[in-house]
Amino acid sequence: MSERKTNQRTNSAHLSGASLYDLLHLEDKEWSDEVDEETSSASSKLERFLSESGNDLCADCGSPNPKWVSANLGAVVCIMCSGVHRSLGVHISKILSVNLDEWTEEDVDNFIKLGGNTAVNLKYEHSIPDKCRKPQPESSIDERTDFIKRKYVMQQFLNTDEQLSCPFTPSAFHCSSTGLNNVVEKKYINSMRLHGIGQAFINNRRRKDAEQKPAKKSSSTAGMVEFVGFIKVNVVKGSDLAIRDVRSSDPYVMLTLGNQSVKTRVIRNNLNPVWNEKLMLSIPDNVPPLIVNVFDKDKFSTDDHMGEAEIDIQPLVSAAKSLENSNGSEPSAPLERRAEAKDKNTLGMITVAEGKAKQEIAIKLQNVESGELHIEIECVPLSQ
Ligand SMILES: [Zn+2]
Repeated sequence: MSERKTNQRTNSAHLSGASLYDLLHLEDKEWSDEVDEETSSASSKLERFLSESGNDLCADCGSPNPKWVSANLGAVVCIMCSGVHRSLGVHISKILSVNLDEWTEEDVDNFIKLGGNTAVNLKYEHSIPDKCRKPQPESSIDERTDFIKRKYVMQQFLNTDEQLSCPFTPSAFHCSSTGLNNVVEKKYINSMRLHGIGQAFINNRRRKDAEQKPAKKSSSTAGMVEFVGFIKVNVVKGSDLAIRDVRSSDPYVMLTLGNQSVKTRVIRNNLNPVWNEKLMLSIPDNVPPLIVNVFDKDKFSTDDHMGEAEIDIQPLVSAAKSLENSNGSEPSAPLERRAEAKDKNTLGMITVAEGKAKQEIAIKLQNVESGELHIEIECVPLSQ
């Protein structure tokens, strides 16, 4: 993409107050007033719903002004609890951002139908034993994880008619990961491993801690991956991808960050696929590179490899962090220069605009005869 075009797009986006979604769609089609109206009507409907009593506090810890939702459970949660939900896997809780994900009118209606936090907690917190303590806004990730697993995965607090049988004596939440629920904990860790989802919170050290150490405050986050924020990756398109079937390929992209992996959909029979698909990943504390793999989907055998790339997201994370520390004042010129200098040859420049740090990337795939991917990454610090 030419620099001129990049500038145009950045400027248009700046003028209209557009999101990453808008930026990407500027490339593909003209602005449509209808789309604009639908989006704004959906988002104002969602905003209204979120301001209602019950939805203005996190369903799990009571933090004010939560900006994340579990689209399938119907809960509105804070960013800390959303990280725990995300670790459970999308088969338990599908987390969306109120501000960063695009909501259609239908999405909003379906979410509202679930009844919001009051309905969710009537169901999932119907009978919390006296000894149990619900997490507070300042609770550790461990306390939140224990409670959220009990609430939605083990469903220990459902009203008695629905309650699953539970072989354990209720204990305080902060003891559960090291005490009575150890077996259950392991079972869920294994089950999550099988699902291949939500591994970010899981590693051997955690299991070891759970087995060997008594509960104490200082170990509350031991073995847990602390997250510093999220990256929202838009896999825009591929070009000139390698042929893996007779004349073409059925490509999809897999993104891996630390222990987490997410995939785009498969596009059949296309060497220049346009996915325009947005995927979110949590950023672990010691920022690993984003690994990009392209595969050809095969029905009857292992998927064929169509190349890979490694993207250093550290400069983008640093940009987002300094932006956050500067309380949103922009632009951060020295920082842009630094990032550009580091990655000038392979990666696009980091732009800081609208209080967001973004990077557009055109990257040549490695270990393959041909292929390039266009990706846009936005970094969202944890405080958002
Ligand atoms: Zn919360």
